[in-house]
Amino acid sequence: MKFARFKKQTDERVLQGIATDNGIQQIEGDIFTGWEHTEVIHNFSEIKLLTPLTPKHVIGIGANYVGETDDLPAELPDIPVFFYKPVSSVIGSGETVVIPRKVEEVKFESELAVVIGQRASNLSEQEVTDYIFGYTVANDVTAPQFFHEDGHWMIGKSFDTFTPLGPYIETELDPDKVTVEAYLNGEKKQDSTTRLMIFSMRKMIAYLSSVMTLEAGDIILTGSPLGAEMMKDGDEINCKIAEIGELRNPVKQG
Ligand code: MG
Repeated sequence: MKFARFKKQTDERVLQGIATDNGIQQIEGDIFTGWEHTEVIHNFSEIKLLTPLTPKHVIGIGANYVGETDDLPAELPDIPVFFYKPVSSVIGSGETVVIPRKVEEVKFESELAVVIGQRASNLSEQEVTDYIFGYTVANDVTAPQFFHEDGHWMIGKSFDTFTPLGPYIETELDPDKVTVEAYLNGEKKQDSTTRLMIFSMRKMIAYLSSVMTLEAGDIILTGSPLGAEMMKDGDEINCKIAEIGELRNPVKQG
């Protein structure tokens, strides 16, 4: 199922629903704890999609893909490079990524994003999928010009609008069998299977859950394939996982 949040063109209320071939079927309730179908179906032409959830936390992992299977390391680092992104940086599909003043370009990073579905602590790798609600697409927008020389990434990852998410949360996805793509102004730049991840999705979530309690609504960005490039004022970036949808954002200078 593909969960969405949306507004009608004529109404400020935030609604929830499930994407169907004919439009979005409205639901009521909490997607994590209990919800019900309604009979109301909204045409796609009458609505504006929002981020598919308001995340509780957003955590990313750095440098997590190789170019081909042969390059996968025999041994993994003891401590993966994780970072937080503020929830204030989250925007939906169609919203504008704003380049911070002082720089003229920022990097796109198309990523598979995991949505945690229930409280999780000290999970084994085998248990991880039981705690996942679904998957969405993220663009981990980055201004590497703001990476600190001592290695801190937080500032360069945290500007407003730097975490486009969406368009849907897909609950029926095999995360080992998807391809993560990015198109800059229509030209394909990223195109990798998730099998090229260094830390597998299960490994990284099991690891994180050994450090912190994860909660429903937490988002884990699983890293970006090779091919991420810079984008500038006037560009359009489209991050795509075919089974989930396309996350399309214009880029403007701030
Ligand atoms: Mg990234």
